[in-house]
Amino acid sequence: NLQDKLDRAFKVLKGQGSITEINVAETMKEIRKALLDADVNYKTAKTFTDDVKVKALGQNVLTAVSPGQLLTKIMNDELAGLMGGTAIELNLTANPTIILIAGLNGAGKTTFSGKLANYLKTQKGKKPLLVAGDVYRPAAITQLQVLGEQIGIPVYANLESKDPVAIALEGIAEAKRNGNTVVILDTAGRLAIDEAMMNEIAAVKSSTKPHEILFVVDAMTGQDAVNTAKAFNDRLDFTGVVLTKLDGDTRGGAALSIKSVVNKPIKFIGTGEKMEALDVFYPERMASRILGMGDVVSLVERAQMQFDEKESAELQKKIRKNKFDFNDFIGQIQQIKKMGNMKDLMGMIPGVGKAVKDMDIDDNAFKPIEAIIHSMTPYERENPDAINQSRRGRIAKGSGTNLQEVNKLIKQFDDMRKVMKQFSNPAAMTKMMKGMP
Ligand code: GDP
Ligand code: MG
Repeated sequence: NLQDKLDRAFKVLKGQGSITEINVAETMKEIRKALLDADVNYKTAKTFTDDVKVKALGQNVLTAVSPGQLLTKIMNDELAGLMGGTAIELNLTANPTIILIAGLNGAGKTTFSGKLANYLKTQKGKKPLLVAGDVYRPAAITQLQVLGEQIGIPVYANLESKDPVAIALEGIAEAKRNGNTVVILDTAGRLAIDEAMMNEIAAVKSSTKPHEILFVVDAMTGQDAVNTAKAFNDRLDFTGVVLTKLDGDTRGGAALSIKSVVNKPIKFIGTGEKMEALDVFYPERMASRILGMGDVVSLVERAQMQFDEKESAELQKKIRKNKFDFNDFIGQIQQIKKMGNMKDLMGMIPGVGKAVKDMDIDDNAFKPIEAIIHSMTPYERENPDAINQSRRGRIAKGSGTNLQEVNKLIKQFDDMRKVMKQFSNPAAMTKMMKGMP
């Protein structure tokens, strides 16, 4: 899957101190492939990777994060930007606001109509009316009526009529009579794009003059979703997109492609069959979802805030020369503590998140370590290899711990130095600390 591919791509960067021309080119190739597999179209994927490459090159990598993590953050920002940057709300100023729902059969129009009515009622204090405009299937009308019942929203239907335009106008008149502030027009779809359907929905549009036209599309249909979006937009010039069925494993690469092809904002995503399973579309969150990188992005942001770049560079130098000592170690512990709650922090590292969820890690975990290090003489701190048995005994007594704990810490410190030398990366250190007292 995409995650595996990205992991593989990031391997290339592992252990590198900075993002260079060579390692970024290789990584971008992998990422482009991964995006194509996630239904992002070729042109979008290419533009995206080219832009990311330019931004990534020459960036200094902080010791707090790996080059892969930094690259993820750059990619996340770029992706979010491509998807519009910020969430775009519905325009609800008109009274009543008329919202036309369009899309193929099975896309989730009727379900979304119900969800939207429920959202506008409970979150926006609106008084919606649902209008059943799918005249071809009696079951479609019943479906909307059942949903309306469930969420306590009135539904206008006319079982006698086969004219979608007339029904829509009747519904709007009804809304005006009853003081409804929003009218949601559910419509009939087709299995595929066809002229008759397009003519019908265009006729509803021109006679009702909707304030919002929302195009509903099944995110699981991948590249087809993009073609459908284009066809509907060419004809209807819709105001927003609704991506449904983004529950489960669907990555949502379609979100990126649709936005780049039709240049209309995605406004909502459907995440399940229940009436509550509707989310306002946030580009940032969708970007993380497409990348599937957990909360790497916020990890990098927090690390960038806390870690001083110059200090980091010196530390890297020391690690490379194997001069990392207990003074550096305690400095790192303080940095990590500044960054916030340990468990939170470790939970952000992909793959570690689940493992630490039920573990009891708190900042107190560092107390005995700090006590031990504080009981060392300056000479000992700078020369960890000189700490012999008699020194260890004295340190144990002075720190109120015992010989076993001191031995354990020094052993772990040694192991850690080895690992750090390999990775030059304190994220690895954070991982190691998990096993500490
Ligand atoms: P329409 O033909 O466009 O009106 O589509 P419907 O609203 O009838 O939905 C078709 C099917 O997709 C139904 O079984 C819905 O329950 C289901 N569905 C709609 N939206 C979602 C969603 O966000 N997630 C999931 N899992 N199913 C959905
Ligand atoms: Mg329907």
